Amino acid sequence: MLATGLGTMVRRLPALAMAAGGLAWRANPRDTAIALGGNLLAGFFTAFGLLATSDVLASLFAAGPTPDRVRDAVPGLVVVMAAAALRGVLLAAARWAQARLKPQVERHAERRLFELTTRVELTAFDDHDFHNGMRRARDNGVPDTATVVETTISVLTGAVGVAAPAVALGLLHPLLMPLLLVTALPAGWAAVRTARMRYQAFYRLSAARRRKFMLSDLMAERQPAAEVRAFTLREFLLGEYDRVADLEQDVQLDVARRQAGAEAAGDLLTGVATAAVYCALGGLLAAGVIPLAVAGAAVLAIRTGQASLTTMIQNMNRLYESGLYFGDYLAFCDLAATRIPPSPTAVAPPEGFTRLTADRVSFTYPGADRPALTEVSATVERGEVVALVGENGSGKTTLAKLLAGLYHPDSGTVRWDGADLATIDGDALRERISVIAQDHTRWPLTVRENIVMGRPLDEERLVHAAAAAGADRVIDELGQGYDALLDRRFRGGHDLSGGQWQRIAAARGFYRDATLVIFDEPTSALDARAEHALFDRIRRHAHGRTVVLITHRLASVRFADRIYVLDHGRVAEHGTHTELLASGGLYADLYELQASAYQNAPQEAL
Ligand code: ADP
Repeated sequence: MLATGLGTMVRRLPALAMAAGGLAWRANPRDTAIALGGNLLAGFFTAFGLLATSDVLASLFAAGPTPDRVRDAVPGLVVVMAAAALRGVLLAAARWAQARLKPQVERHAERRLFELTTRVELTAFDDHDFHNGMRRARDNGVPDTATVVETTISVLTGAVGVAAPAVALGLLHPLLMPLLLVTALPAGWAAVRTARMRYQAFYRLSAARRRKFMLSDLMAERQPAAEVRAFTLREFLLGEYDRVADLEQDVQLDVARRQAGAEAAGDLLTGVATAAVYCALGGLLAAGVIPLAVAGAAVLAIRTGQASLTTMIQNMNRLYESGLYFGDYLAFCDLAATRIPPSPTAVAPPEGFTRLTADRVSFTYPGADRPALTEVSATVERGEVVALVGENGSGKTTLAKLLAGLYHPDSGTVRWDGADLATIDGDALRERISVIAQDHTRWPLTVRENIVMGRPLDEERLVHAAAAAGADRVIDELGQGYDALLDRRFRGGHDLSGGQWQRIAAARGFYRDATLVIFDEPTSALDARAEHALFDRIRRHAHGRTVVLITHRLASVRFADRIYVLDHGRVAEHGTHTELLASGGLYADLYELQASAYQNAPQEAL
């Protein structure tokens, strides 16, 4: 793309125009038809008007008294005026349709992008290329889809605007037609060169720009504001900003200089070509090849054609340039489509399970050099509370995500009784599972929306879920209750502490009527009393449901029916609390460590 020349550009345009046309048609067929039809018909009236002008000139330049010549020219003039009026009406209708089309196309393209980004497999977001492609498609591709459609129509309009005088010239005299082309080439060359320079600069700067966005978030957003001050990061961040901004500015100035040069050369050459065309016209006139009236009409036609040509080339330039970004958008849509998990059989998931098994599952994150899980087997019986424990990075979260069907293992299977999760319709499966992630999202929505999470609203259930999670007191204190907006960036919005957010997130887990509930570190930010209460409620709330619980608080997993201890992506041991303590393995070590920390702390403090 970066090495594109005029030829490549011209070759690429039809494909671009087709893709843009398809998009416009899907967004709104009627407006697309009016925009195209109006422009094409307007072109027809342009040619017609020019030919009629030639007749008018022929009448005016004929021999005889001036009043007679003017009178003879009147019918021709009426035709010229009628053609101009019709052309005006058609162009106005086409422009109106084009203006309506723009927001519709952009919306259509953006929605398609979000349809894809919300459907692709989760691992796609761990993939650097996918992420970059998504950013380019979202930030530049989407806004440029509308430009591509708009400029495609403008290029077609321009082509008709050029073809009409060209045909008129050809009808006046075949030799006149190539003259129009001569005036067009220099401007075309300059336009393509400048477009390419801009795109190259965009590419060179894309990493720098991302860093600048990141820095701007760090310096201007609310969340890091306290740490920027606490760590006196101001000078460091501003210094980084200057470094990136200097680089960006240097590239931009360099592009501006080279673009100005190319444009000046293009203008100069256009001037030379125009002079050559007029000389040629004079020569034809002198040689008696064309009469004066035809030469007059030809000058008009060339000027009309040249004006259309300049706009057409400018639009081709814009189309080519936005087409590059649009190409990014199309490429990303294709890439994302390949990352949509296949639903080979679209088998509906079973209502529930009597046994959930992970059988020798292994999983490596894309781009990671070590597997996160190696040959892990685990069993969860219906109605059990099963705890996953282990040190940081031992693979607990990954295993939980595999059990929830969010990731699929590279080898091994996760089964609900006999059904392999890899063959089950993913969305339908996740309807039956509730995952409260450790890094749960703080949705900038109301409390109610934060708990209900798009499910049908049931007030009674909502109040129960909030109470079970210990979120009821938090909500009472908010003043607006369930209608309180949980985002300080909006007027009247509220902010919650980490622990308060964690209660809201836990309420989500209780609200969702799921067969399997996964809590990943649900108490990490809770105070001791709240933690104890939450574990107690999880246990009581569990009946009928199966709970997979990840936690570091070993004192709180004593009640679990079974405990899996993970170590470096493998199951080190499993059993009940009593069995594991008795076996004196890793669990017993970790448990002793935590217990002794509590027992020794007061003595050490003394
Ligand atoms: P735990 O929950 O026990 O702390 P995780 O399951 O989160 O552990 O992580 C297991 C391993 O996988 C760790 O080595 C971690 O660095 C790695 N890991 C986790 N998430 C990703 C990711 N998105 N991409 C690459 N590696 C990851």
